Amino acid sequence: MIGLPMTVPAPGLPARVRIHEVGARDGLQNEQTTVPVEVKAEFVRRLAGAGLTTIEATSFVHPRWVPQLADAEELLPLLTGVAADLPVLVPNERGLDRAVAQGVRRIAVFGSATETFAARNLNRTVDESLAMFEPVVARAKDAGMHVRGYLSMCFGDPWEGAVPVPQVVRVAKALVDLGCDELSLGDTIGVATPGHVAALLDGLAGAGVGTDRIGVHFHDTYGQALANTYEALRHGVTTVDASAGGLGGCPYAKSATGNLATEDLVWMLDGLGIETGVDLAALTATSVWMAEQLGRPSPSRTVRALSHKE
Ligand code: MG
Repeated sequence: MIGLPMTVPAPGLPARVRIHEVGARDGLQNEQTTVPVEVKAEFVRRLAGAGLTTIEATSFVHPRWVPQLADAEELLPLLTGVAADLPVLVPNERGLDRAVAQGVRRIAVFGSATETFAARNLNRTVDESLAMFEPVVARAKDAGMHVRGYLSMCFGDPWEGAVPVPQVVRVAKALVDLGCDELSLGDTIGVATPGHVAALLDGLAGAGVGTDRIGVHFHDTYGQALANTYEALRHGVTTVDASAGGLGGCPYAKSATGNLATEDLVWMLDGLGIETGVDLAALTATSVWMAEQLGRPSPSRTVRALSHKE
């Protein structure tokens, strides 16, 4: 049984990548069933134990919209002492109040590059949602917090079709101007291909948004997530979002396949000799355990290959 790929570096790639692990938030919020809070805590502890250093823990979106993560106030105290950054999603000032009360140091706001998704997901226009984030980001920055800005539908939108690069660049630039330290470019329905990734990163660079503050969030709906990641690495991106075991996805994408699996990403990065600090065997064991909790197998190719028993 092969447990790791052969390491063969390729030119023009970063030496190290920081994985922003989203399984506990983006993954579990899209599960039908609500996972018990103790299981969530154990999941985060195991992810940290496998070497992940940024683990998005939960969300302070109103429980009515995301009942799966309604236990944020119960979860965070269970994570005291976990040796990782534990950012949380914060939709508005009320969510920020809840995060501050829990001593959270890193937050993420969730914007949209398209009007239709902004209307459906945020009940606002794109510009109204930016106005909603403005005091959230300002207060968080005043409090010394790190702020990530998610940007959904950067490549395609299920209602609007292809999303023009300049439209994405405008909203991305606006989030940076609000004070976001980092952007996460979301291919929410998984339709991006590598040339499109290159065009968007070039467009952002032209607007003064460099790869040092860009993370990429690819979905594997059409099998393109790793090709797109590789292209982003070639452009100097060093922050990559992924979900342990491939948990979650997007309820608006037609297929169940969603988030890039962290194990699939680590397999490629290990093979390229790019440092992540992640122990692939420990991570895979964590996803196998989580799949047992959820009662169905992981969609990750790497998890399946590494946990296959003759
Ligand atoms: Mg996602």
